[in-house]
Amino acid sequence: MNYAFPPAPVVSLDAMSSHPFPVNRIFCIGQNYAEHVREMGGDPDKTQPVFFMKPASALVQNGSVVPYPPGTSDLQPEVELVLALHKGGKNIPADKVEYDYVFGYAVGLDMTRRDLQRAAKDKGEPWDMAKAFDNSAPCTAITPEFYSGAVSRGKIELKVNGDVRQSSDLSDMILKVPQIVHRLSTLVELKPGDLIYTGTPAGVGPVVSGDVIEATIAGLEPLTITIG
Ligand code: MN
Repeated sequence: MNYAFPPAPVVSLDAMSSHPFPVNRIFCIGQNYAEHVREMGGDPDKTQPVFFMKPASALVQNGSVVPYPPGTSDLQPEVELVLALHKGGKNIPADKVEYDYVFGYAVGLDMTRRDLQRAAKDKGEPWDMAKAFDNSAPCTAITPEFYSGAVSRGKIELKVNGDVRQSSDLSDMILKVPQIVHRLSTLVELKPGDLIYTGTPAGVGPVVSGDVIEATIAGLEPLTITIG
């Protein structure tokens, strides 16, 4: 096939001893930890977790220097458990998710232009320019589920220049992994290669050029990036 210009390359993540994982789409869930809902000014009893997306081209490999993005003076990293799906479908039953659909798990950062997000929320406008910008999705290699087993609890932490900013446990997620995949699959047909960022705990705050961000989840490869 000859195209008008060379098509964009396939974006992939390493997956330990498995072949590289080709990334299709990146879904994200917001407002999935009660303490984070509160720190953002919401009431977890009245708030439903919300889905949004980033383009696959926003992925950043572990160890990278990430340029400080334009259009913001309030860049904030959010540490998140990332699910990697190797099987898709619609209306996926929650009890089938963890062993039939999840290929593995990774540590990701949902980079957010918080000032643009606040402005969008205030005006009822879309979040895309706050969430789906270039280099907004750093992610580690994937740990296949046959190494890790189903990941549903364990420490999730974010450090900036060695200082702990976010520290929680995966068991504090409002929608758990099976419910996230089930609910998303009632809204769109999921595909092999889709990633799902599962939300961030409390403690979000700004970073500046030169900051070193370390994100960890028990049992998974740690993520380190530097803001350029
Ligand atoms: Mn997030």
